[in-house]
Amino acid sequence: TLSKPMEPSRSWTEIRGLAEEAIEPYRASHPGVDFDIGNVEKGISIKIDRHRLGQILTNLIINAIDAMEGTGLIEIRTDLIKKQARRYCRLSIRDSGKGISEEDAKNIFTPYFTTKKSGTGLGLPIVERIVNEHGGAIWFDSARGTGTTFYIDLPTDENSY
Ligand code: ADP
Ligand code: MG
Repeated sequence: TLSKPMEPSRSWTEIRGLAEEAIEPYRASHPGVDFDIGNVEKGISIKIDRHRLGQILTNLIINAIDAMEGTGLIEIRTDLIKKQARRYCRLSIRDSGKGISEEDAKNIFTPYFTTKKSGTGLGLPIVERIVNEHGGAIWFDSARGTGTTFYIDLPTDENSY
């Protein structure tokens, strides 16, 4: 059946394949950035609109690249975890960029907050909204000068939605 316009069509989406697709254009455009998805396990799927998961990955990858000066490492990984008898895929994206100051850290999920000359400040609010709509959680860990890691837990159980 056709879904209504704007209604997400949630189907089992394999993360590894989508992560490969998401990084491909940036590997080409940013030769100084190394992408490591060796720890994104094959065969892990979550029930999510494919385009939405792509948006999550792309928004986080772009932010990671923006935090660097042309060179660095972006590592994406997955870990299967359990919280209160529910199973989740923990997706993390770690970058070796400049990090987030304590002051900025309070505001990064606020719509239109940006520290960039031509930023929209909408990337993270969109990611957070998608994650929330799928019963997930998002948080981050950052150290100035060392880098930032974003963590996203998304349920992998059939009936979590
Ligand atoms: P935008 O990218 O348009 O600025 P976002 O909502 O994607 O908007 O991000 C908001 C702000 O959060 C950014 O301007 C930046 O200051 C900070 N930020 C997000 N991701 C990172 C990251 N990986 N490293 C450093 N700062 C980040
Ligand atoms: Mg952004």
